[in-house]
Amino acid sequence: MELLTGKVALVTGSARGIGKTIAEVLADLGCAIVVSDIDKEGAEATAASLKTDAIAVQADVSNADDVAALVDKATERFEKIDILVNNAGITRDNLLMRMKEEDWDLVLKINLKGAFLCTKQVLRGMMRQRSGKIINIASVVGVMGNAGQANYAASKAGLIGFTKSVAREAASRNIQVNAVAPGYIETEMTSHLPNEVKENFLADIPSGRAGSGEDVAKVVAFLASSYADYITGQTIHVDGGMLIA
Ligand code: NAP
Repeated sequence: MELLTGKVALVTGSARGIGKTIAEVLADLGCAIVVSDIDKEGAEATAASLKTDAIAVQADVSNADDVAALVDKATERFEKIDILVNNAGITRDNLLMRMKEEDWDLVLKINLKGAFLCTKQVLRGMMRQRSGKIINIASVVGVMGNAGQANYAASKAGLIGFTKSVAREAASRNIQVNAVAPGYIETEMTSHLPNEVKENFLADIPSGRAGSGEDVAKVVAFLASSYADYITGQTIHVDGGMLIA
């Protein structure tokens, strides 16, 4: 029997990038998957490629009606959700002095409010079944800050505080809430960074390489499994040592 046989996971932003790899790794461990993304065709392609029971549901995580419909469709198909991975996230980088108010609002709305809406909608069922795992994808930047990313860093720092608070609220119902803070991971999101920024990141990574989606997904799988039943409210850094305290 695989580690996650019989479990159902909802992964937001899983049409591509880290979310897609999380869906693949959880599927390989026996989990049924709800692939959700704002990109309908991408979500459908990912769901079709998984070696498990999977459905694709288009949803904007920052829209409460979309999120309610997403959770309804997921529970209609699979009857429960055991694992929620709040992965959907965006960047709108600029120095603070040049940052537009709409770029501040949009990043906070998708990265932080999106996790609030999805968690709230899934938590009721988890409370009822008295078990659940919620994993929030934060960022190393939410802990150390980064010039040009005040909006993104604030959203990810907020996600870490959110993780700790919900962990305290849900622990007595056997629900564990943790965060994963990736460092520099090679995906579509980071492919647009200027070479100079990429080289600066690499120079700060003791492991000497960028991370992969799989590096992140394996830690998510651990936190989603019974191996992590006594871990809650934590942030695990997956950054090749970028932020060794
Ligand atoms: P990505 O390649 O840009 O993928 C993000 C996915 O989320 C895309 O499919 C995107 O769809 C979707 N999405 C965007 N807005 C959405 C919304 N409102 N509702 C639902 N889905 C939405 O990003 P990634 O690099 O895989 O990042 C995944 C997560 O890891 C993010 O939370 C990111 O902040 C975090 N992270 C990444 C890194 C890194 O180095 N890559 C480092 C630390 C943390 P569209 O393509 O249609 O926009």
